[in-house]
Amino acid sequence: MRKQVRISLIGAGYVGLTTAVGFSKKGFKTILMDIDKEKVERINSGESPIYEPGLREMLKELRREGNIEATTNLDYAVSESEITFICVPTPSRRNGDTDLRYIEDSSKAIGKALRLKEHYHVVAVKSTVPPETTERVVIPNLEEGSGKKAGPGFGVCMNPEFLREGSALEDFLNPDRIVIGELDPRSGETLAFLYRGFAAPVLRTSLKVAEMIKYASNSFLAMKITYANEIGNICKKLGIDAYEVMKGVGLDSRISPHFLRAGIGFGGSCFPKDVLALVSKAEKLGYNASLLKEVINVNSRQPYRMIDLLKKRIGSLKGKRIAVLGLAFKPETDDVRESPALRIVSELIRQGAGVVAYDPKAMFNFRKAFPKIGYAESAKEALKGADACLVVTEWREFRDLTDDDFSAMRGSVIIEGRRALDPKKVDGFEGVCW
Ligand code: NAD
Repeated sequence: MRKQVRISLIGAGYVGLTTAVGFSKKGFKTILMDIDKEKVERINSGESPIYEPGLREMLKELRREGNIEATTNLDYAVSESEITFICVPTPSRRNGDTDLRYIEDSSKAIGKALRLKEHYHVVAVKSTVPPETTERVVIPNLEEGSGKKAGPGFGVCMNPEFLREGSALEDFLNPDRIVIGELDPRSGETLAFLYRGFAAPVLRTSLKVAEMIKYASNSFLAMKITYANEIGNICKKLGIDAYEVMKGVGLDSRISPHFLRAGIGFGGSCFPKDVLALVSKAEKLGYNASLLKEVINVNSRQPYRMIDLLKKRIGSLKGKRIAVLGLAFKPETDDVRESPALRIVSELIRQGAGVVAYDPKAMFNFRKAFPKIGYAESAKEALKGADACLVVTEWREFRDLTDDDFSAMRGSVIIEGRRALDPKKVDGFEGVCW
């Protein structure tokens, strides 16, 4: 099979699409399967349904070469490939548990499709799933659907993904490490073959260890950001700059300078739900993960610090016009899932303010949650006539804003949540942690 390995991916979102494009770039034929017909059509016409730097261009090129295709037909995707990655969502339930319904649906469907396959096939879970999910949910569904036994009948891996939105393709192609959790050596070998052209250490583990590595990594990063925010909140009270402090802290090689940017907290589709899921899994195992619980608590309060500072400066928000710059949970993405901007805009509206927002890429997605606020075509337009401005995402273009642009505001209060503005170009803004 070696040279001919073809890959199918179930779920064509940020992870599925990036993984497909990345493996196609490495020379493998890939088939993306999604239940969303519109997404499938867009991919087949060479258009990316999401914004990620470089993704659209590479997808177009690969489509022209015929190395990648999309379908809504799961049986076709599985029958025409030797390895299937599960890349479906694993959102949180209200109680913090992971909602495994998409994992259930897709593993059952893959199981049925495997019944008809004569050749060896490996199913790899790429979605982030709580430890024991591959063994207790995915494998039983695959076995039931296929009528085969995992191991001799088909291979199973758990291959967590560490890409960051905003640099997804770059991260996928240049990972720090590749983790392959394997049911047995044959499964692991098959997956390792896909990654042989990657310049990264490959860690071969059990399924459960691979699942746990992903949660432990994300929880650590979420904790590191929250730690920086906690120190930042204390710095603010001391009237000192958290960034100056963290520069001194990050130079310690045991700590490293990454993920020490104080601000209004982490968001996105991963950190919040993954920390919650680990807390919830620990609880089921009879352990109270109090440190991680506090990470969630501190992080959920952090965006409101912007509102507190704003009110200290301009008083009641009723009837005030507030310009919000940035809606995505981080720059270089159109993703607004769990973005601090959602909490901030919601609170501004609750307190009677009028909001005019601008984001270079995320307005389409934000509009689905807030269809009635004002949206501007540019940062400059959002600022016109505003009583105050909140900078919520550190888009690079905000660094070019000058005093001149802000002079179009009616008021003069600028609250910075992300250290996005250039102090050499803009005067008199106030930071949340500096
Ligand atoms: P996403 O919401 O962007 O995409 C998921 C896709 O799966 C959607 O297009 C949806 O239509 C499709 N889907 C749902 N049910 C399906 C089914 N039964 N069959 C086929 N397709 C189905 O999600 P994402 O951000 O790509 O995340 C996927 C998984 O990867 C999650 O477990 C997430 O935690 C993990 N992850 C995400 C990132 C990230 O930065 N987004 C990074 C690492 C890991």
